[in-house]
Amino acid sequence: MSEVRKLIAGNWKMHTTLAEARELARGIVQGLGADPQAEVAVAPPYTALAAVAEVVAGTPVNLAAQDVFWEEKGAFTGAISPVMLVDVGCSQVIIGHSERRQHFGETDATVNRKVKAALKAGLGPIVCVGETLAEREAGHTLQVVERQVKEGLAGLPADAAGRLVIAYEPVWAIGTGRTATPAQAQEVHAFIRTLLPELAGTPRVRILYGGSVTPDNAAALLAEPDIDGALVGGASLKAASFLAIIAAAG
Ligand code: PEP
Repeated sequence: MSEVRKLIAGNWKMHTTLAEARELARGIVQGLGADPQAEVAVAPPYTALAAVAEVVAGTPVNLAAQDVFWEEKGAFTGAISPVMLVDVGCSQVIIGHSERRQHFGETDATVNRKVKAALKAGLGPIVCVGETLAEREAGHTLQVVERQVKEGLAGLPADAAGRLVIAYEPVWAIGTGRTATPAQAQEVHAFIRTLLPELAGTPRVRILYGGSVTPDNAAALLAEPDIDGALVGGASLKAASFLAIIAAAG
């Protein structure tokens, strides 16, 4: 088993009105109780962060954002700074999700700037990496993930280990219902760990698996020695299924 407490994070993507976000957050808080089996975070859309912050205040649920810009403030229309996320109550932020890379031109270089800015502001970055189906079928999975990890996390301070989280999310498994097998995920997680010798402190960097995690497959994935939690998309939009995944981490 892994040496660190597992983290189950829900990525709500571009879903939920304010009322829906409050209801979902309340359902999670109520179902979780005071002493959950894992650390828990939810990442609502920007518009719902303040509302969800009120619901999760004083509970074990941490608030995360789905993206961040690297500048502190200024003429950057549409962007949100790390300081603003801290101000609204976030303690973590997802960076470099494959949907950001695919639809919004995110690169390893922009990921790196965002990770550094997030850490500087006191946020814990959840940095997403993962290969496309074509890259896996061409036998390039480890090469792609190595580039994303090394370039996305270049030059981080050694004390980042305790706050940094990496999410291995094979692109072909996100939102497709096609999950990596526990063995496939474990192979990449163990490989990622070898890429971070400078961050190999205590506690170790948590590496989450993401890609069609459900209550049915969560326990087998989370039992792997290098899988320290899950980043959950679709199944985090219903309190019952998200809670069942958290229970599987215990
Ligand atoms: C995600 O968006 O990070 C994700 C893993 O989505 P899903 O669980 O729906 O595949």
